[in-house]
Amino acid sequence: MAYQTINPTTNQLVKTWPNHTDAQVEDALASAHRLYKSEWSKGSIQPRLAVLRKLADLIDARNEELARIITLEMGKLIGESRGELQVVAQIARFYADNAERFLAPVSVQTDQGDAWIEHQPIGVLVAVEPWNFPFYQLMRVLAPNMAAGNPIVAKHASIVPHCASVFEALVTEAGAPKGAWTNLFVTADQIGTLIADPRVQGAAMTGSEGAGSVIAAQAGKYLKKSTLEMGGNDVFVVLEDSDLDKAVEVGTFSRLHVAGQECIGAKRFVVREEVADAFLSKLTAAFKAVKIGDPLDETTTLGPLSSAGARDGLIKQVKAAVSSGATLHYGAGVVDLPGHFFEPAILTNVTRDNPAYFEEFFGPVAQVYVVKTDDEIVELANDSNYGLSGVVFSKNIERAKSLASRIETGAVWINTFSSTAPELPFGGVKRSGYGRELSELGIKEFVNQKLVLVAKA
Ligand code: NAP
Repeated sequence: MAYQTINPTTNQLVKTWPNHTDAQVEDALASAHRLYKSEWSKGSIQPRLAVLRKLADLIDARNEELARIITLEMGKLIGESRGELQVVAQIARFYADNAERFLAPVSVQTDQGDAWIEHQPIGVLVAVEPWNFPFYQLMRVLAPNMAAGNPIVAKHASIVPHCASVFEALVTEAGAPKGAWTNLFVTADQIGTLIADPRVQGAAMTGSEGAGSVIAAQAGKYLKKSTLEMGGNDVFVVLEDSDLDKAVEVGTFSRLHVAGQECIGAKRFVVREEVADAFLSKLTAAFKAVKIGDPLDETTTLGPLSSAGARDGLIKQVKAAVSSGATLHYGAGVVDLPGHFFEPAILTNVTRDNPAYFEEFFGPVAQVYVVKTDDEIVELANDSNYGLSGVVFSKNIERAKSLASRIETGAVWINTFSSTAPELPFGGVKRSGYGRELSELGIKEFVNQKLVLVAKA
């Protein structure tokens, strides 16, 4: 696929970016490997942390300029772009402030002698990343691995090449040496060749199941460590004792944030029968109230989807869900604008034999399920191929905690939406992937946790 900037609001082609040749890819890999063998990776952590601090400052200072680049390239609301960039700077600062402590040797109690675990870089990593948080996804991989000393060659999604090249330029401007982070406009085949190369020691992938399983297979074939951050069809549970208005407000935000293109967005609303009618009518009113339009306009509340393919795929999914028996309770009407817009929609009566029951809808489409008991909630939540995150709304925190413990996902949030922060681990189970990004867990994914033992005298 060509690397192209197409404004999702106007459907105008802005720029086509040339692919990197095999020779350029080899040059990038050779530089990264040389860096790994150098004092930069093996020596003091301080110069690497200094780059992260400078990078955070640059991103904060250019928040508005970078936010516009994001919005013009993948269509999220300008306010959402600003918010993304704030978190991106926080991640860089978080690892700059904490990585030395996370990577310090940890002593091990044993009667064999004096033992400890050291944390050392393992080598060049390949990162393959999606477009929905075009700076955040890159920083989730860069910050911990720069701190740890692992150089990265990165393939960003082909619809956000401007973001990809600006991010690389920022890392360089922050003082990173050649090879620390190299953006590559490459094909899937070139990624396969990179993963197979003995100089590469790991692959970090965020995206869809299909791409994840290709990357994981390539990494597995060559015995390379991989982390996979895939999609989800997260539940948003509303118990009968919830603050219903709050649940609707937060649920609407979670489903429509970034036009519904968020891996941890609420996708299946699972509502206790006692409040189901009230919840559905309030959710419908909230969906009807959105203002669809230009994401640069501060008053817009729902922008376009990221690409024509994303919109067309979603239209197909909704049609298939309805033809398999679901009720289109609201929305999915035609939006008379030139870009990739999609009217938010609500599906009800999605039965287990409907393909929609197991699918991820990566756009502003909510499914609403009605349940009679808490056991039914757990059964429905866990009857999924995915296991990324989930939400429980209730005024009874003990009851919500008990449900949270029973839901098979990488995270559960109570009385708020699933979100992210540098100190909180991020990742899933089942087909949502494996491994964790962010937090102390994230920095430990691609380090050699090396045991050293001095025998007793
Ligand atoms: P995608 O098609 O899998 O694309 C993600 C990245 O993988 C892009 O850079 C893409 O490049 C690349 N890619 C695709 N096929 C490849 C292959 N065979 N070999 C190497 N690279 C390949 O994902 P998407 O549909 O754009 O993104 C949305 C998905 O990501 C959703 O399922 C969402 O839930 C998930 N996601 C998960 C998380 C998380 O942290 N768990 C976060 C964000 C998104 P091209 O663009 O060139 O195809």
